[in-house]
Amino acid sequence: MLTSHATRLALVAAIGAFSVASCSQENDSAAVQPAASSSQSAKVEEAYPGQNGNSQAGYLSGQPIEYRSINGENIYEGDIILTSEQVANTGARPESAGRTSGRWPSAVVYYTIDAALPSQNRVTDAIAHWQTNTAIRFVKRTTQANYVTFRVGSGCSSNIGMIGGRQYINLASGCSTGNTIHEIGHALGLFHEQTRNDRDTYVNILTQNIQAGYENNFSKYSASGYAGTDYGVLDFGSIMMYGSFSFSSNGQPTITKKDGSTFDIQRSALSTGDKAGIDAMY
Ligand SMILES: [Zn+2]
Repeated sequence: MLTSHATRLALVAAIGAFSVASCSQENDSAAVQPAASSSQSAKVEEAYPGQNGNSQAGYLSGQPIEYRSINGENIYEGDIILTSEQVANTGARPESAGRTSGRWPSAVVYYTIDAALPSQNRVTDAIAHWQTNTAIRFVKRTTQANYVTFRVGSGCSSNIGMIGGRQYINLASGCSTGNTIHEIGHALGLFHEQTRNDRDTYVNILTQNIQAGYENNFSKYSASGYAGTDYGVLDFGSIMMYGSFSFSSNGQPTITKKDGSTFDIQRSALSTGDKAGIDAMY
């Protein structure tokens, strides 16, 4: 387990299977209690599909990063919205003064659903899935200061962790229940699985096949351990993991397993590794 000091510094985490009994690095975790139908056509999440804006240099938890400026927003890894405060913060601490944590206190997320959002069952089904499979609880916001509003967006996107005040999970009509489970994962503090610090042990990143402007979706989040913490081993079945062909420019894979084989994107349910990672964080 993390010490309290490490916990304070580790704002966010890439998640993975917690079992250390398995000898196979390529043992996909079984998904549990699917909340959505087949993920055969699952798409990777993007805040602004088809737009990649301009490259910007900034910081996340004090670590230099490259992100995209699209429609006045700071977009990281395709679907993560960073605040201006986050990208300007050169300090090592992930939290600004007055903020005690990027995690939701007592594992409770307060939320509202914008009345204009169509197919709200995507949200209620995704919340039910998180509550069935983890200790995270979702409570309709009344007067709480910090909360998530689910609303219509150009794509699927979310902030990373609790940022303080009102924050949004944006859902276009194409965002499925599985995509909504994924975006809630970001709001809880999860990065994409392939950005783990140790990912090179498990995957090959084929930069030559990545769409121009999307290369940084495949960056490791940090080598310092400040911006993120690897839990367990890389989980190919994670709902936070890209698929082999995500952001491909030419139909060739952008990520393969170490043996060169490809794998499917999974957006039906939290994997057992996803559950273990969240249990460790909260
Ligand atoms: Zn994402």
